[in-house]
Amino acid sequence: MTQPCLFQGGIKPDEHKSLSNQTPIVQGKLPPLLILPLLQHIGAPTEPIVKVGEQVLKGQIIAHCNGKDCRFIISTPIHASSSGTVIAIEPRAVPHPSGLTAPCIVIKTDGQDKWIERLPLTHYSDLTHDVVRNHIANAGIVGLGGAGFPTHIKLTHDSYFIDTLIINGVECEPYITCNDRLMREHPDEIIAGIQILMHVLGGVKRCVIAVEDNKQEAYLALLEAAKEQVEVVQVPTQYPMGDECQLIQVLTGKELGHNQLPASIGIVVHNVETTRAVYRAVQLGQPLVSRIVTITGNAIEKPQNLEVLLGTPMHIVIDQCGRQDGIERLIMGGPMMGFALPNDEMPIIKTTNCLILSRADELPPLQMPCIRCGACVQVCPINLLPQQLYWYAKAKDFKKAKDYHIFDCIECGSCAYVCPSHIPLVAYYRYVKAEIRANLHEHKKAEIVKRRYEFRTFRMKRDQAEKEARFERLKTVSKVDKEAIIKAAVKRAKELKFNNTRN
Ligand code: SF4
Ligand code: SF4
Repeated sequence: MTQPCLFQGGIKPDEHKSLSNQTPIVQGKLPPLLILPLLQHIGAPTEPIVKVGEQVLKGQIIAHCNGKDCRFIISTPIHASSSGTVIAIEPRAVPHPSGLTAPCIVIKTDGQDKWIERLPLTHYSDLTHDVVRNHIANAGIVGLGGAGFPTHIKLTHDSYFIDTLIINGVECEPYITCNDRLMREHPDEIIAGIQILMHVLGGVKRCVIAVEDNKQEAYLALLEAAKEQVEVVQVPTQYPMGDECQLIQVLTGKELGHNQLPASIGIVVHNVETTRAVYRAVQLGQPLVSRIVTITGNAIEKPQNLEVLLGTPMHIVIDQCGRQDGIERLIMGGPMMGFALPNDEMPIIKTTNCLILSRADELPPLQMPCIRCGACVQVCPINLLPQQLYWYAKAKDFKKAKDYHIFDCIECGSCAYVCPSHIPLVAYYRYVKAEIRANLHEHKKAEIVKRRYEFRTFRMKRDQAEKEARFERLKTVSKVDKEAIIKAAVKRAKELKFNNTRN
């Protein structure tokens, strides 16, 4: 029996969950246009395998990694989320704070929502792990908790033996309730997904579903549906409990070291909605074409959860829930780890778990100078020094930021939440990480160029030295010997030419 403990640091922010968790999940509307970015996951982007003007069916693969196969690469295919015609393959605005554009496939829907032939693996337990894993890879499933890491990669562990499967139903970010509603309404599908994951992982001896103790209905629903080998555990409500490292520590007492993968200690963590997507892919033959999104905030008339087709423009789902006056900001994700978007034209993608339409009274006031109060240090679950990292970020002292372990920061936002000066600390950390990564990339490129140049110079000098040495040797030999050497060289050249002609 698992006895969860608390982790060090963390916070208890206002939940705002009752805004959207009171009503059942509703089907999102079929939009006239679907905008499907070629990159909706962590890893390599996909390439289109359809052309403009082509008719497509719901569930049809329209983009693959390398245009062929994503099974052995950190990537995952993209499917048409409804039937219709491809009308463009072009850059469109995608969900990103900068509002940047990226290649997308645009489908004009035909209103029929017609599926391609679905091919479930009904008797999956008779099939090998690889067959089921490849089926999951082709279904385009990624971590639906918001991370977007391809699920089939987390199911491939040639170098590690996995004995513990953790299903993450924590959903600790304020406002977000899509996992809560899913656990209450479809616990059987989650349990069925767990059975499939356990089959693919092979030797799993223990499976724990973790649910925060502020989701009593979800906990009871899972408890009733749970089968042998599956333990449902309530964990304390504390942010960022849903982070993989914190959850593992709370459930098993094991701490992950710097850059250590959960798999290296025999553990794999999957989100509850990801687990449901695995069930749908294997038992129903349905690839990932939709996800549950929480539409909430004080500027939304009827906050709720919608099952939305991927690629649906955000304004369609927002309008379905109704807008109030006084809209101040649109945030994708939660208020802790999410980011503000410049407009609502962008599509819902695989990692969109929540849209918050907030009013001015929900937003933090303007940023003020750091007063070195140390509040951020108290709450950091990773034991970092957030204010030091902030100072180094401001000074662009990337080396010091690295020395102070900026790459261990999980970007949970606890420090920014308690900061009395309302400094957007996480934005500074993301900036520093991006700069360090970019510098590293440039450094590596420069190193390669330098090594190539050095080798070329060395080769030229060596060839020159050899030539000079041969020349010097020739000076010392007699005229007869010189003629013999020249004759031998001519003979070798002729033989070489003759052999080349024959071949
Ligand atoms: S909580 Fe904010 S004001 Fe206080 S030390 Fe940290 S960054 Fe500075
Ligand atoms: S420094 Fe990073 S890990 Fe620590 S509280 Fe801030 S965001 Fe979270």
